[in-house]
Amino acid sequence: MSIDDELYQDIIMEHYKEKKHKKHIEDADLEREGANPLCGDDITLYLKIEGDTITDASYDGVGCSISSASADMLAQSIKGRTVAEVKQLVKDFKGMILEDGEPDFPEDISDLEALKGVKNFPVRIKCALLSWNTLEQMLEDQ
Ligand code: ZN
Repeated sequence: MSIDDELYQDIIMEHYKEKKHKKHIEDADLEREGANPLCGDDITLYLKIEGDTITDASYDGVGCSISSASADMLAQSIKGRTVAEVKQLVKDFKGMILEDGEPDFPEDISDLEALKGVKNFPVRIKCALLSWNTLEQMLEDQ
């Protein structure tokens, strides 16, 4: 195991344990549930949107360490960004896991790179992508 692997595992566990962005937004503009029955992950995303900016984002539900950490990072990463920026971010994130992409994430959300090792574990890919696929569907009409 390399230093990177250890660092990345620490980042994932930190998000999983702290769950800073796990909450129910009562007056969300968009909400959508996503499930991954293979693992038992069942996560609902909540977004608040003003104009074309995502002003708040959170998630709720149950999930394994990977799906929970991924949803937590997602919420942290998209808050304050425009819908267009977030759509690109979803593309970059999925490309990193599904196509060996090497995205250049902005400094404030470089935590996302911690999930790139998931691509080596096919059964966990659905866990990592659950919230991102759900977000992509939510933003389709935006
Ligand atoms: Zn899972």
